[in-house]
Amino acid sequence: MDRVAGESVDLLVIGAGILGASTALAAASAGARVAVVDRGDLAGATSSASSKLLHGGLRYLEMGDVGQVLRSHSERWATARVMAPQLAAPTRFLVPVFEDGPVPLWKARSGVAAYAALARWMDGRGGRISLSEAGRLVPDLAVGRARGVVVYHDHVTHDARLTLAVLQGAAERGAHVLTHADVVGLRFSAGRLVGADLVDRLGGASFMVSATAVVNAAGPWVDEVRRLESPSAGTSVRLSKGVHLLLRGGEGWSAAVTTPLSDGRVSFAVPWQGLLLLGTTDDEFAGDPSSVAATDQDAARILAEAAVALDRDALDPSLVVSRMAGLRVLPMSTGVTSRIRRGTVVSRGPAGMISVAGGKLTMWRAIGCDAARLALGRLGTGRRVEMPVRPLPGATPQALVERSIGRRYPALRDDVAANLARNYGTSALELLDRAGGRDMGRIHADGPDIWAQVPYAVSNEWAATVEDVLLRRMTVGLRGHADQEIRERVAAAITSPGPSQ
Ligand SMILES: Cc1cc2nc3c(=O)[nH]c(=O)nc-3n(C[C@H](O)[C@H](O)[C@H](O)COP(=O)(O)OP(=O)(O)OC[C@H]3O[C@@H](n4cnc5c(N)ncnc54)[C@H](O)[C@@H]3O)c2cc1C
Repeated sequence: MDRVAGESVDLLVIGAGILGASTALAAASAGARVAVVDRGDLAGATSSASSKLLHGGLRYLEMGDVGQVLRSHSERWATARVMAPQLAAPTRFLVPVFEDGPVPLWKARSGVAAYAALARWMDGRGGRISLSEAGRLVPDLAVGRARGVVVYHDHVTHDARLTLAVLQGAAERGAHVLTHADVVGLRFSAGRLVGADLVDRLGGASFMVSATAVVNAAGPWVDEVRRLESPSAGTSVRLSKGVHLLLRGGEGWSAAVTTPLSDGRVSFAVPWQGLLLLGTTDDEFAGDPSSVAATDQDAARILAEAAVALDRDALDPSLVVSRMAGLRVLPMSTGVTSRIRRGTVVSRGPAGMISVAGGKLTMWRAIGCDAARLALGRLGTGRRVEMPVRPLPGATPQALVERSIGRRYPALRDDVAANLARNYGTSALELLDRAGGRDMGRIHADGPDIWAQVPYAVSNEWAATVEDVLLRRMTVGLRGHADQEIRERVAAAITSPGPSQ
């Protein structure tokens, strides 16, 4: 806050979701002085409510958008191989085909073959597998009812921690990151944007930031921020609500499941962080984006849609530990939201603000780079913004980090070491070294997160509230484990961020 208030930067980015984070990284990499601000937590909105997939997008193929699949595969691999391998788990996806299902077996089979080819067979070939193999890979799959099963490959990520890693990359290159700071107004001089007025949501102070260029990466609030620039700015996007459920389950699964539904959507069942992620819905949303929430009706529908392909025992409502709701930002068009292409919406406002929204988490590097290029081009410095495919902080394959943790901290249980390795990469070692042997106990007996992660989240990861820590830096909250005692202890660590007792 001290470093940002009253500061003068080349680029102010409004919104620290994945697109704001990547815009900040691209601009900082080009040598620009950058500040990125968010009215809530980093990744506090859409970027922690996604299906957690880095994917080429099998459905784009069905829509005939071959170019988008090619680009998405290429970006997926840039993240998985170089930029954040620990946050990209290569995953097989099984597509079960049923007698009365919407997609015939021949079409599913040729679809996954084309999908693999567009990924240049980097993940191997897609194709049909036997029902018995499918049953081995996903024990809860209702293979008895299936006509056949085909397989394709994508990656599974932790969306909020990927956003965090991108912001850490930006901060390493000098960007200021400020969360819980709301942009409430913009400043102009001779018709051009020159800065913004902000309010610190935690402390209440008002302050301003001067900026030569501004990028609006406010996600579902993109039009609200456009109206700060021009009150007459109309509506540029449509919103669609997507809900996910997290369930206890997924034990013994070594693949995810994508089930085609009769209305053209798919139902995902993805093993994630030792839980089972189910979703998602796709319903037009017209209200205040801050009010988006998962209802009982959404939850019942997701369980019913998952039951098309999974055994009912794995879908008992008592297994649900949490729900997530997010808003897709879609280009304006007519028709049902599930049929609209997931394109990025980019515009330049009358005072020069670049607004960027929509698109895919998978495409973070490319979209952020384009936004920063548009914004900084206006500076006329001649610098061309590039975002080279370089490792983000912590980038190392999970297995390597796990081995290093095992050597240095042999007393840590395997699930704890794996959890640290896949979410922090090499920063896990820094976290453990800093704890100096304290706080190694589990936060909750049934989860892999340990107390040492809490002070680290506060001092190294911009966590400022109990929710920031429990929902987005770790999975305690998502597992339904955040009881009063845990919340109080985290709150105490936030006020005195030394290693907790
Ligand atoms: C249900 C669902 C599933 C998805 N699944 C996938 C998937 O599996 N794979 C994939 O690639 N993509 C997926 N996507 C798309 C992807 O999640 C989004 O494209 C991406 O997260 C958008 O990021 P963003 O930064 O634009 O928006 P957000 O993450 O919403 O960030 C916008 C930020 O702006 C901040 N903000 C708003 N107004 C202000 C203001 N006045 N001042 C300061 N800050 C402000 C907000 O607090 C917010 O944090 C999914 C989307 C949804 C909704």
